[in-house]
Amino acid sequence: MSDLTISTLIDGESAPGTGAEEIEVLNPSTGRPIASFRESGADQVDAAVAAARAAARGWGRTTPGRRSEALTALADLVATHFDEIAALESVDAGKPITAARTVEMPGIVNGLRFFAGAGRASAALAAGEYVEGNTVMMRREPVGVVAAITPWNFPLQQAVWKIAPALATGNTVVIKPAENTPLSTARFVQLANEILPPGVLNVVHGRGPTTGEALASHRDVDLVSFTGSTRAGARIASLAGSNLKPVVLELGGNAPVIVFDDADLDVLIPKLVVATLFNAGQECMSGNRILVDPALHDQLVERLAAGMAAWVPGDASDEKTQLGPLISEAHRTRVRKAVEGRSASTELVIGGDAPDRPGFYFNPTLVTGVAQDDPLVQEEVFGPVATVQTFGSEEDALRLANDTAYGLAASAWTRDAGRAMRAGRELNFGSVWINDYFVLGPEIAQGGFGASGFGKEGGLPGLDELTRLKQVSISLI
Ligand code: NAD
Repeated sequence: MSDLTISTLIDGESAPGTGAEEIEVLNPSTGRPIASFRESGADQVDAAVAAARAAARGWGRTTPGRRSEALTALADLVATHFDEIAALESVDAGKPITAARTVEMPGIVNGLRFFAGAGRASAALAAGEYVEGNTVMMRREPVGVVAAITPWNFPLQQAVWKIAPALATGNTVVIKPAENTPLSTARFVQLANEILPPGVLNVVHGRGPTTGEALASHRDVDLVSFTGSTRAGARIASLAGSNLKPVVLELGGNAPVIVFDDADLDVLIPKLVVATLFNAGQECMSGNRILVDPALHDQLVERLAAGMAAWVPGDASDEKTQLGPLISEAHRTRVRKAVEGRSASTELVIGGDAPDRPGFYFNPTLVTGVAQDDPLVQEEVFGPVATVQTFGSEEDALRLANDTAYGLAASAWTRDAGRAMRAGRELNFGSVWINDYFVLGPEIAQGGFGASGFGKEGGLPGLDELTRLKQVSISLI
């Protein structure tokens, strides 16, 4: 593993932070410190935005093909550092190493390659004489300087989904990773600066209310792309809005899984265990809110509980570990309180407590008999916790599924094609999966509705978010 240096990197130059706070980074598997850094000061946020601004004109005028070559070279470089970065992610975010190696790292390299290619072609109205006597052209231009603020649950994957499409479309970037998981992003930006011109990709480090707010409220940023909690998203939208800057917000989720009476439980149960427990449930698309037909309730609960209980908590560096720790003691306390606060009429089938070991672990937890207005149903828990409730009719199931503030992802399980199509139409979520879960890829635009935010990431719509559309017309007379 590389040494765990976390420095501000601006205009191709590394420097220690100038901010007030020294931040300690902990390994969630042990609770012990692995690195520390001084956060970037407001002066460094200014310098990073200024460097990105200075580089924007040159980078924005390179050809899409040249930018694609740079991103492809970066994908190759990341691939050669595959094990090093996977290990950083594992020790920093408490990510099971096997998940880091088999899911996240391949996704990161694949994402870089997709965005490298996708940025070479953009769709818009063809030039033509739509107004008599004029030839009209629509130009897609980079917005300029993109501020990217990312969460701790998938640190580098989230960073790459912001950086790569922004660079591919000719923007320059200042990124601020989450203060508790800065390692993989810091290393990625170092590697990228071996390839990119100075100032094209800059990183600042620090907490949300300090470094994050300085970046989100900066007047010379052209767009803020944020992934994180709904609460921080609302704050960032208001800061950026006060400068009339656009935002892309990928916020919290609270995904329903509707199990109709004709669902195939043999296919469903293994996928539902993963939907509930992947990344210890710290997944914005986690399938944690199960709505089941009464006829299948007991069977589903029994089989799901057995499947969840088989995910034994283990050190994230152990290749056999499926269930890693939560990110911090504070977050574990939040999860525990959410479970403890359930109403008296519910039943705790498994879990609800922490295993007796160091680190920030929480046991797989399944709660049945929840009511729709239970906070455990209404709020995003962000832990290895699932609830089960029953429904009456199909209409009732869809109504309950839609009845929270969030709208990120949902799934429905049925062998009836008409019912599947109705679910696809009626569910108010940015991603609706029928008879499967986590159907994700860089080609597929994702992004939520309601309290889950707005704007898309991924696919061609994700690239379009990072461009501005301009009309240029020429009179033929
Ligand atoms: P968070 O909102 O606490 O922090 C996210 C990032 O925002 C961090 O870098 C943090 O330092 C920064 N931040 C916090 N307050 C800020 C402020 N006032 N101004 C500027 N920056 C600020 O979120 P988290 O706890 O790190 O991440 C978990 C959340 O992210 C969950 O709600 C999860 O659902 C969501 N998430 C959503 C998606 C998606 O695609 N929709 C993906 C992953 C995570």
